[in-house]
Amino acid sequence: MSAVRELAAGLWRIRLPLHFELNHVNVHVLRIDSGFLLVDCGYGTDESFEALESGLRETGVAWSDIREILITHCHPDHAGNAERVRERTGAPVVMHETENAYLPHFRRLVAEPGLLDPWLLSWGAPPEAVDRIRDSFADMTGTYRPAEAGRVLRGGDTLHGWAVIATPGHAPGHVCLHDAARGLLISGDHVLEAISPNIAWLAHRDALADYLASLERVALLSADRVYPSHGDPFGGLQARCRALAGHHDLRCNNILNALAAGGETAQQIVERLWRRMLSPFQHRFALFEVMAHLAYLENSGRTTCDRSAEVHRWIRTPA
Ligand SMILES: [Zn+2]
Ligand SMILES: [Zn+2]
Repeated sequence: MSAVRELAAGLWRIRLPLHFELNHVNVHVLRIDSGFLLVDCGYGTDESFEALESGLRETGVAWSDIREILITHCHPDHAGNAERVRERTGAPVVMHETENAYLPHFRRLVAEPGLLDPWLLSWGAPPEAVDRIRDSFADMTGTYRPAEAGRVLRGGDTLHGWAVIATPGHAPGHVCLHDAARGLLISGDHVLEAISPNIAWLAHRDALADYLASLERVALLSADRVYPSHGDPFGGLQARCRALAGHHDLRCNNILNALAAGGETAQQIVERLWRRMLSPFQHRFALFEVMAHLAYLENSGRTTCDRSAEVHRWIRTPA
């Protein structure tokens, strides 16, 4: 099957390979007055870059036809090759101002895999598991080549006729693109059909509160077709937003129930919720996901956290 699919007039999807569990990431090519806008750049490998090059060729787009590069968010599968694509095209990179502001933090996380160790240990992860998580992410160093924004966006901006919808949550400066006239939404990782986007704990933010507010915002958009970064196009945006919000509501309740028995660490909650062996990759995501929920529950007064010892314990607030 071809990696290229024409989705609508002047809109193409190019599917790029990922070597980890997600399997692929979709980037999008949009025709604009002056040439083409590329939405996302794929993972930072030669394989991904060559797949993008051949996909563009099949679409009939030369590197030099690309006038602008939008990064929906700076995760490695979306922005990993952005610097290389920027050099090849000479086109400026645009992204939300918040995502651009977080870029040094993301770069540091990838360049220094051990940076997370103290957090993971304070969440109760066993030291051997922390070692495995660090080692499994160490091979990402060197493949993450995002680019700084030449121009930053804010929610409410318009990009070549598409409305930029700020959708923080999955990433702090995530954006979607909406074409109201045609009822099209390029949803990035904000709304996916088959999987629930990972909502990861981030210091000084309430990622889950952000995400739920972004879901409400997007559910109000008129869009018959949704084009996600992972998976195939789908309809039923409102229902999917409701289902995703319901998933997080259920997870919050499951966590509160787990806490009813007494103080628990984030690691203990992961073990209760995922009753199977997790790869180091899944384990890290599960811990960050649980922490995002615990922080949300703490902010809404439903949990408290005892941070007096090295390993933090979460307690359900009496009703
Ligand atoms: Zn992502
Ligand atoms: Zn992604």
